[in-house]
Amino acid sequence: AETIRLLSSSQVITSVANVVKELVENSLDAGASSVDVKLENYGLDRIEVRDNGSGISAADTPVMAVKHYTSKISSPQDLEHLETYGFRGEALGSICAVSEVVLTTKTADDDVSTQYTLDLTGKVIGRRPSHLGQGTTVCVLKLFKNLPVRRQFYANVKKCKEELKKVQDLLMAYAIIKPELRVTYTHNKAVVWQKPKVSDRRTALLAVLGTASIANLLPLQHRQEQPKVTIEGYFPKPGSDCAITSSCNPDKTFIFINDRPVHHKDILKVVRQQYNSQYREDSAHNRYPMLAMSISVPASSIDVNLTPDKTQVMLHNKDAVLSAVEAMLMSLYGPQTS
Ligand code: ADP
Ligand code: MG
Repeated sequence: AETIRLLSSSQVITSVANVVKELVENSLDAGASSVDVKLENYGLDRIEVRDNGSGISAADTPVMAVKHYTSKISSPQDLEHLETYGFRGEALGSICAVSEVVLTTKTADDDVSTQYTLDLTGKVIGRRPSHLGQGTTVCVLKLFKNLPVRRQFYANVKKCKEELKKVQDLLMAYAIIKPELRVTYTHNKAVVWQKPKVSDRRTALLAVLGTASIANLLPLQHRQEQPKVTIEGYFPKPGSDCAITSSCNPDKTFIFINDRPVHHKDILKVVRQQYNSQYREDSAHNRYPMLAMSISVPASSIDVNLTPDKTQVMLHNKDAVLSAVEAMLMSLYGPQTS
């Protein structure tokens, strides 16, 4: 049973960035307006995510890290209109199976916070009062301590640095989609990146991309019925060359589907093709534009439950979405008919 737990958990929890993603999504699901992410030794020694969300009530703490316990859905129908990032109750339990987890939490009703030590099966094996404010802090120590091969992957400093960058890209994506969120990100006590609470998407984007590029970004909207697709975001003005990233690394091409940051290959391809179509004569231009594009479809037409780590989404009306993206970008970058 222990081996099965380890194997299935290692499919859910694949990397440092993936742990951060699950913990931050839990914070957002708990209504947090502030999230602090602290890594030590690239996250291998310690990953800490602190939020000011709802906290976990004492009654729920014995089961919170039990696999498949979730407070977020209670019937299969709930999956049809999912409004939370989490829904499977797998993350916390899986993290416990591959590390040492200490979780501190306080709800509005609790007088003091309580610190819980969890074992490999997600069971609470220690509890004591502590002194944190409302919200939840999860500390993940010695990640992959029982998965030497995966731990070995991080023996390479280059890999470690890529992982730090991935965490930053991830936090930037949530910072764009949730402008009111305050985020800090530190590694070995040095601040890597931070963003204050702001009031709108444009200011959030400014905080993420920097002032120089926002001047070159144009707000655009596109709506279509049957099937219903709404696209909105900020796109590089035609000819504004500064707003692009390299061809192999679309890290500033922020794409969201129903508020979930995604790396959707087909959408990225359309974006790249359309953006570069304005430079037809110049083959040096085959890069990804810097943009933030938020696609909304009815919740019943996407499936986020494709892979254990929830990094893939399936669109039931993929072709309609792709052609909506294409039409919108073509109107911006295509040959002008005036
Ligand atoms: P899921 O997010 O799919 O429900 P998780 O394993 O990520 O599953 O979390 C299990 C449960 O623990 C959640 O449903 C929630 O009730 C609680 N929980 C986890 N993290 C937090 C947090 N930061 N704030 C409040 N509740 C949390
Ligand atoms: Mg979760």
